[in-house]
Amino acid sequence: MARIVMKFGGTSMAGTERIRGVAARVKREVDAGNQVAVVVSAMAGETDRLVGFCREASPLADPREYDVVVAAGEQITAGLLAIALQSMGMKARSWLGWQLPIRSSSAHSVARIEDIETDAILESMARGEVAVVPGFQGLASDNRITTLGRGGSDTSAVALAAALKADQCDIYTDVDGVYTTDPRIVPRARKLDRITYEEMLELASVGAKVLQTRSVELAMKEKVRVQVLSSFTDTPGTFVVDEDEDMERELVAGVAYDKNEAKVTLVRVPDRPGVVAAIFGPLADANINVDMIVQNIAKEEGTTDVTFTVPKTQLPQSLDVLAKAHGAIGYAQILSDASVAKISVVGVGMRSHAGVAATMFRALADRGINIQAITTSEIKVSVLISEEYVELAVRVLHTAYGLDGPAKGDS
Ligand code: ADP
Ligand code: ASP
Ligand code: MG
Repeated sequence: MARIVMKFGGTSMAGTERIRGVAARVKREVDAGNQVAVVVSAMAGETDRLVGFCREASPLADPREYDVVVAAGEQITAGLLAIALQSMGMKARSWLGWQLPIRSSSAHSVARIEDIETDAILESMARGEVAVVPGFQGLASDNRITTLGRGGSDTSAVALAAALKADQCDIYTDVDGVYTTDPRIVPRARKLDRITYEEMLELASVGAKVLQTRSVELAMKEKVRVQVLSSFTDTPGTFVVDEDEDMERELVAGVAYDKNEAKVTLVRVPDRPGVVAAIFGPLADANINVDMIVQNIAKEEGTTDVTFTVPKTQLPQSLDVLAKAHGAIGYAQILSDASVAKISVVGVGMRSHAGVAATMFRALADRGINIQAITTSEIKVSVLISEEYVELAVRVLHTAYGLDGPAKGDS
């Protein structure tokens, strides 16, 4: 007998028919003699709808009340799945985030799970009940409801698997695994049998939304066996694994894109010590997460331009913070552009091979795609380009690194 955590995403939970399909999948594991806890997302589109209500009510909604609203989508699906399981003859009950509880930090809307109390749920599972737990929800130390950031149900599942010392954590979604890039953009994307935690972490952090970044971080730290697989087919999925010797090592494991960043340029900033701190200090104080940063070398008159990216949703706030800091920074002008996208290539093979960045720049240049900023890490190269070229750039890079599989329909 194994103890399994199964997580089902929004598309898998969208409506009664699909919830029945999920219940049937859970039944298979129960019938095989396993102890099962299920983590569910809200129905597809539901969290967006709830976020929309909060924005309509007030653009500056109290984050604690925002969480009360947006956490509700998962309450509904958790109850519905428990009902569907019971109607198929299984013993099941739902456990809301506050009932376990799933303790989190108090960073509302982006809370981190700190601890999950498992005594009650373990007793229930030992009695043969399927435990259904809503993803995305947490409880702060002041007993207020929190949520874990968009896509956070993945993290709920991995955290629950770690807390329950589960043998595996299966993430069921609307694709049948982790691909070399988003299969919805590149039909020739190839499914990976295995991907290292490190590569998955980097891919998630640069935009591959198939797993939330924190879920991969946690799986890596807690050594949770994670598999990504389809809710709709029975094909084998992708295992997220430790790097090992006999792994077939591609130079690049995958290509990802992120349309959620905006570019800001401060023109003619004085080139003196402290100026960069004067820019990024106030942004950090306002909890704005700056990503790519480019500072040119000073021109003759002792000024330079500084370009960086911030989350698109925080662009207005960023411009406001920078306008207030104008006196301390001393720039001539602020420019901003929200129609940019970041394209990244990721692979552990980069550590030992040169030329990955050069291949990227050449492939984009051949298509006339201009690069506006570049950042690199040990296993990643990212470039900022105009948003209109995202899909083209992803396809071109996928081909340039030899990642293309057969076109759909070939075999
Ligand atoms: P869920 O609702 O199940 O959590 P998500 O929409 O959050 O599902 O994540 C699954 C989606 O991630 C897929 O539909 C796919 O479009 C996208 N995706 C992006 N990059 C990749 C990738 N490299 N491999 C697989 N899917 C990816
Ligand atoms: N329902 C939440 C969201 O849409 C959490 C999740 O699905 O993972 O972001
Ligand atoms: Mg998701």
